[in-house]
Amino acid sequence: MTDKFKTKSSQALTTEYRPLELEKEIRQFWEQNKTQQAVASLKEKNNTGIVGFVEGPPTLNGIPHVGHARGRLMKDLRYRWKTMQGYYMPFWAGWDCQGLPVELEVEKLLGVKNKRELLERVGEERFIQECKKAIMKYHKEWVRLDTLLGVSIDHEKAYWTYHDSYIEREWQYLKHAWEQGLLEEGHYVVAYCPGCQTSLSSAEAGYEDSYKMVEDPSLFFKFKVTGSKNEYFLVWTTMPFTLITDTMLAVHPQAEYAKVKVKGEMWILAKPRVEPVMQELGMKDYAIVETILGSKLDGVRYDFPFKDIVPKQAELEAKHDLVHRVILEDFVDVDTATGVVHQSPGNGEEDFFAAQKRGIPIFAPLDDEVRFTIDAGFFSGLFARDADAKVVEELRSRGLLVEVKTVKHEYPTCWRSHHKLVWMARKEYFLKTDKIGSKVLEAAEKVKYFYESPKNRFLAFLREGKPWCISRERVWGAPLPIWKCESCGAKTFVSSKVELIEKALEKPGEDFELHKPWIDRIKLRCPDCGETMRREDFVLDCWHDAGASPYARYTDQEFSEYVPVDFLTEGIDQTRGWANSLLLEHVILTGKPEAPYKAFLFQGLAQDAKGRKMSKSLGNVVEANKLLEKYSADVCRFYMLRKCSPVDFMDFDFNELSRRPYQVLSTLYHLSRFLLQNAEFDGFNPKKHTLQWAMHEGLLKKADFWLMSRLQETIEAYTEKLDTCEFNVALANLEDYVIETVSRLYVPMVRKELWTDDPETLNRRLAVYTTLWYVLKTLTLLFNPVTPYICEALHRKVYRKLDPTLPETINLEDWPKPDKKLRSKKVEDEFKTLFESVSLVYASRQSAKLKRRWPLSRIVIVADERVCKILKDVEELFLELTNVKTAEFSQKAPPYVQEEGWVPTTEGSMQVYLDVHRDEKLLGEGLMRDLARRVQALRKELGYMPTDVLNAVYVAELDDESTSFLKPYLSIMAELVRAKIVQLHNSREEMKAEWHETQMDEKKVYVAIA
Ligand SMILES: [Zn+2]
Ligand SMILES: [Zn+2]
Repeated sequence: MTDKFKTKSSQALTTEYRPLELEKEIRQFWEQNKTQQAVASLKEKNNTGIVGFVEGPPTLNGIPHVGHARGRLMKDLRYRWKTMQGYYMPFWAGWDCQGLPVELEVEKLLGVKNKRELLERVGEERFIQECKKAIMKYHKEWVRLDTLLGVSIDHEKAYWTYHDSYIEREWQYLKHAWEQGLLEEGHYVVAYCPGCQTSLSSAEAGYEDSYKMVEDPSLFFKFKVTGSKNEYFLVWTTMPFTLITDTMLAVHPQAEYAKVKVKGEMWILAKPRVEPVMQELGMKDYAIVETILGSKLDGVRYDFPFKDIVPKQAELEAKHDLVHRVILEDFVDVDTATGVVHQSPGNGEEDFFAAQKRGIPIFAPLDDEVRFTIDAGFFSGLFARDADAKVVEELRSRGLLVEVKTVKHEYPTCWRSHHKLVWMARKEYFLKTDKIGSKVLEAAEKVKYFYESPKNRFLAFLREGKPWCISRERVWGAPLPIWKCESCGAKTFVSSKVELIEKALEKPGEDFELHKPWIDRIKLRCPDCGETMRREDFVLDCWHDAGASPYARYTDQEFSEYVPVDFLTEGIDQTRGWANSLLLEHVILTGKPEAPYKAFLFQGLAQDAKGRKMSKSLGNVVEANKLLEKYSADVCRFYMLRKCSPVDFMDFDFNELSRRPYQVLSTLYHLSRFLLQNAEFDGFNPKKHTLQWAMHEGLLKKADFWLMSRLQETIEAYTEKLDTCEFNVALANLEDYVIETVSRLYVPMVRKELWTDDPETLNRRLAVYTTLWYVLKTLTLLFNPVTPYICEALHRKVYRKLDPTLPETINLEDWPKPDKKLRSKKVEDEFKTLFESVSLVYASRQSAKLKRRWPLSRIVIVADERVCKILKDVEELFLELTNVKTAEFSQKAPPYVQEEGWVPTTEGSMQVYLDVHRDEKLLGEGLMRDLARRVQALRKELGYMPTDVLNAVYVAELDDESTSFLKPYLSIMAELVRAKIVQLHNSREEMKAEWHETQMDEKKVYVAIA
């Protein structure tokens, strides 16, 4: 045994692929050598171009899960790939630190139930400190995720949305909006969360995730036509409390309405709804008496029933003639409910517009906690949804209740606290993005989205084009920098900290920062009337913080160099989130129909193995750091990218990790290790034994050319698919090449050549190493963006070991480009034909029950001229692969194959005839191969390197006939199993050795090696 060789190589690579150990070692190497920084600074100085990037900042309010890990590694893949292509990409981290998500998390930690309690018990100043503490806690978890997963993002250059410097630059977006008249204060109906006590943007209210099944009343009631004897409008609602703020009834002007006689009364409702509604109400006795067009109902007055208990409503009616009358509106849907819609401008968006259009005042008697104010009379003090029952009761006592049941339906709830949202009119600040809608759409249409469905979804959302409510009645956020005069109402927009301190009536202290409560203490002098101005008490929607990142995270110089960035990727939920706010803010800032990103990949979200959403309540959330403590980062990375298309929802299944993904990486590992061991043994020098050398010396065979040709195809297809973000397809290509082409087909074709240490054939062996060096090294480069740990390890321990002039880290290597000179379609076609015919021979052997290891004497292939010619050209390889001594290729079956002893097999237009007769020689050789296979398995089992030479192999207790068959083949067998000698013994007793029992055709045989 060559001991020297054994110790040398085992230090470098372990016998088994043990990724957790290997990754730990590589992680240390990266940390000690500051590899990430070194690569970045080299590329910054010396690159072929710049690829811009802005980090979509994770909110620091929770622990990262496996879905986050998937998103981060798609970014890392892009970074590593582009870096190897020679680009410089500012892959810098960023953190979303402020806003409702963080506040609610901290409220939970502090055990506070709502905002009022928060302000009374904790106070703003301490609350802000607690928020800062909380984000630092979660920050650690995210950094750990990147470290374990091998995400090469720069944390030292991270941006933090709560830093004054960031907020100041964020204000520049608002300044542009302010100057263009796009930032306005106004009353508007907003989605409001009673739990969080703040309004939400329409994007937030529309999150798919926020729709939950809830139970609500299903109420049919009637409003009497004023002055009639017994005519009523029949109306339906699921929100009885909105009757308190009702001011109009709407009908569709072009729809037909019916007067229906029921129980001596006349009910008015949309004609197509008569039958279904009556059925639902269980009314059998009814008749349509009259049909009228909706437009004829215009201006009809009705008796609002609660004028006595809500005196403000009586006041409104007296002051405004249109209050409590029928109006005509196209938005009325006559295919649902009764086609008569009651309007509460204080609690509904369409209702609000309908009232505004007609100059009807908005009646919105609700406070910050969504309780009715004193203006709601009898209902004052009640929480809106708690008033539902009271309203029903009042209707009943007035004889206006028709029916009340409950209905289960999907209703939007708060995406953070899950309270049912309430729509109510409030004073807020809006970015009037509806005014720049066409520019926004134009910008969005120029972006590349890679997949149709998320693109359509994003554009459809943008087409809604609603104004963006950016004010929040909360504490921990970027403050709205608008001061308003207490006396004359004049407003001042402040755009920097310096400007603010300069204008302040009283200079702030040392601890001043751009947050509540400090900023609220600053008062300004009104330039118009000289009175005091106070800040408008709002903070900004945190989506505005994140959307400001392209400008706020960079300097002016960097902004002009990097933005619009080349590529961004985030979860599909960000169509309404970050992708949207980035786009709107950029159009406002630049005034141009341009997005801050040229391409955006929306990823599907992560689910559990059964395809269920991951949620705390189901207990099926996979925490990323816990996962990566137990499982290899490379295996996880490969799995998550290979498993499905990036837009698909990924069903994460632990069981799948250790199967195919592990197998692929393990194969890559062992192929490189196989090369290293053999190459070192034979003194391979990649500087000297180049492809050029091998070609010049005529040492390459067809199989080598075929392998390299297939590699060119793989490089091309793989790179192309990375470019179109079909990561799963890209990796399927790579996987197929490693497993099928290299490992299953090529290596068996050359293994026998490498078996010997005959100096006569040394050059041929070196030529095989040259081929393998080129192919496997290229593969390692292609794998690097996906599985960086194993690739760095192979780079250092195999390729750099054989060629010390290679760079310190694989990340400084160049991305492989396909070499046209090595591509040969002809050779690929030939090999395709070869493998097809070989597999037909295998099928034929199987039906004749002849193992592939057993040599056969003759074979006849009947096929067309083209196939025959190809097979003749690669005859040597064909015989080797099929393990047959001679072959005949013919277009017609020769007569002798009709004789006994020939087995025919047909597939398509090809036939195989196998001569199944085996003489002593063939039997002996077959037996030898069976035995050799057992010795190989034993070598592996006992931990011998493939290159180790054994002193001896002993075989005992073969029967006499087998012994005589085998004897002529002992020296061939010795060569095959890399042993100096093979000895046969009659009995185990003859020699003391560690015998291993094995079965040979149901007989026991014993083998020992030394
Ligand atoms: Zn909420
Ligand atoms: Zn003033």
